[in-house]
Amino acid sequence: MAGGKLQAPRGTFDVLPQDGERREALREASDELLGLAGYAPFETPVFEDTEVFARGVGQSTDIVQKEMFTFEDKGGRSLTLRPEGTAGACRAYVEHGMHKLAQPVKLRYWGPFFRHEAPQAGRYRQFNQIGAEALGSDDPSLDAELILLLAELLADAEVECRLRLSSLGNAATRAAYGDELRTYLRSREDELSDEARGRIDANPLRAFDSDHESTRAVMAGAPLLVDRLDPADAEHFAEVRAFLDDAGQEYDLDPTLVRGLDYYTRTVFEFDSPALGAQSGVGGGGRYDGLVEQLGGPPTPGVGWAAGIERILLAGAPGEALGLPVAYVAVTAPDHRLTAFKITDALRGRGVKAQMEQAGRSMKGQLKQADRLGATHVVVVGEQIEVKDMDSGEQGPVADIHELLERVAL
Ligand code: AMP
Repeated sequence: MAGGKLQAPRGTFDVLPQDGERREALREASDELLGLAGYAPFETPVFEDTEVFARGVGQSTDIVQKEMFTFEDKGGRSLTLRPEGTAGACRAYVEHGMHKLAQPVKLRYWGPFFRHEAPQAGRYRQFNQIGAEALGSDDPSLDAELILLLAELLADAEVECRLRLSSLGNAATRAAYGDELRTYLRSREDELSDEARGRIDANPLRAFDSDHESTRAVMAGAPLLVDRLDPADAEHFAEVRAFLDDAGQEYDLDPTLVRGLDYYTRTVFEFDSPALGAQSGVGGGGRYDGLVEQLGGPPTPGVGWAAGIERILLAGAPGEALGLPVAYVAVTAPDHRLTAFKITDALRGRGVKAQMEQAGRSMKGQLKQADRLGATHVVVVGEQIEVKDMDSGEQGPVADIHELLERVAL
């Protein structure tokens, strides 16, 4: 459309510089936190064969039924923009024979994900997630470690939130419980919403998510999976809780916690933030002990989570108290630009965030610009070089570049 106004596609957004800085601070904090716990940086393609998600995430989920961006490539293959990270991580684990490595294999990732959802505040069609996965061990300390890492990440980013926790048991318990729940739902079928009734066969658990009043009343009397766990799963869940209790981590046991993905077994959890309104989920995950096998690999336990970067930024204040030095290098006359350029480079080499004047401003304009950039120091390059400390207001000459760096760098 000639002359039409071009905009980012519906449900997408541009990251503008100010937000970019906050994202970067969050990324650095999460890389450090997860890296210290042994989660190695890891990436998969942003699109996969559609089957990875159809088999991995599950045919009956909203994600697979309604929300995937699926397209055919020029060779007629069905590809899908990844709606989540775990299925791709397990696909890669199998493809690269990672079960032969020392277990558990701990992975962390950061990047864009795609879901065709109705956009609203905190819900986008392209959004970004931080994720962490531990594959190859069913040790309950991993479930607890991952939950505590996400709790710490959110606390560092100043996101106020609560943790909901439950256990879904194993596939056999879940199947038997599913039958019990279906029988119960059928016995009260005429009180259910159309949606809940339509899902009795494919995914009866989703009825717990309903907002529909009489469906909720039916669900209040429904049998609960946590009461049906087999002894090994009940013991596993008790151990996860013991680690969390010992670490002083608070949580609400929520037997109706149903995550929108089919692959979960045993532990499931979600962090919600009241600051987010309707889209309150800030991050969540759980154990998926059957997923690798479902994708063609050997039986392999796994546990992990993903958190929404945009939601963390909406709900919190990551990286706002960094306090690193910022220098602005001002020039009194064009003759001094070469020196200023060299000084700026040397400051960066010492880890100082530094910029020089690059828009022909007057000295007054340059000081204003330094202010806008939040400079902690202004270096004035003229016949001599002076450094102004913006906190104390003190200004004075420096003898040489070494003294300059000492004054500005930490
Ligand atoms: P899920 O894979 O659905 O458990 O999502 C994990 C996290 O990703 C959620 O807690 C949200 O923070 C974030 N998230 C999921 N879907 C969206 C979306 N459409 N837009 C923004 N963030 C999302």
